[in-house]
Amino acid sequence: MSNKVHLGHTARKRFGQNFLTDSNIINRIVGAISPDNDHIMVEIGPGLAALTEPVAESIDKLTVVELDRDLVERLKQHPFLKDKLEIHQGDALQFDFSQLMQPGKKMKVFGNLPYNISTPLMFHLFEYAEHIASMHFMLQKEVVLRLSASPGSKAYGRLTVMAQYYCQVIPVLEVPPESFTPPPKVDSAVVRLVPYEQPPYPCDDIKQLQHVTSTAFNMRRKTLRNNLKGLFSDEDFSNLNIDASLRPEQVSVAQYVALANLLSSKNN
Ligand code: SAM
Repeated sequence: MSNKVHLGHTARKRFGQNFLTDSNIINRIVGAISPDNDHIMVEIGPGLAALTEPVAESIDKLTVVELDRDLVERLKQHPFLKDKLEIHQGDALQFDFSQLMQPGKKMKVFGNLPYNISTPLMFHLFEYAEHIASMHFMLQKEVVLRLSASPGSKAYGRLTVMAQYYCQVIPVLEVPPESFTPPPKVDSAVVRLVPYEQPPYPCDDIKQLQHVTSTAFNMRRKTLRNNLKGLFSDEDFSNLNIDASLRPEQVSVAQYVALANLLSSKNN
């Protein structure tokens, strides 16, 4: 049988379907998620239920968002899951997570994500950060390195700054290709993202932080002065005590927020 067929389902490449089959890894991920009834539990891309089943075992209700209609049909027929699942068929990138909110409860979101949508999906979820207690995602290992990078390292970039603005980032475990069917071409890793109750460096307008970071990292080899020429003067940099000759990867989250806040105040 082809290694693309698992539990009678042919994996669809366009949906990033690599199903987890390693029970040891599955147990460790479920332990990290720590499912409970005090949170709104939400899974993105349940697929053939490798994580869905053990997570649902210990709780009363689990909400899932799955794009693949065939997999949604299977979940609807599932012997014990069908009574516990609230199933939303559709694209998680377009999904309005605010419809799941309940007073006094935060969400715990998790998923073995299709790698082609993982970065935009995290950006989408950051919009709901204040309503989220934790997120656990299986990602390309390289993306976990970017999320958790420190200033000065090669992996430090726009995704790092935006993720660390909203969340504490904790790498949880590395997962080899053999843990999946079919095996992906890259190494994977699980990350825990814990949104801050109060961001340590509050930003007045998140759009400005997005604007400053995407402009700054446009040319990684250029200095901050060059990349942000149209936005800030030398005087602005010195007022903020930021060395304009730094490369974008040498600038801390706090410094990017300070730049974004200056931009907001200029525009007002
Ligand atoms: N959770 C399962 C596992 O661990 O074995 C499946 C993981 S597989 C890497 C990704 C899952 O996300 C698939 O079930 C796929 O159909 C689903 N998916 C792909 N794109 C999606 C999207 N835009 N929104 C929601 N689900 C999506």
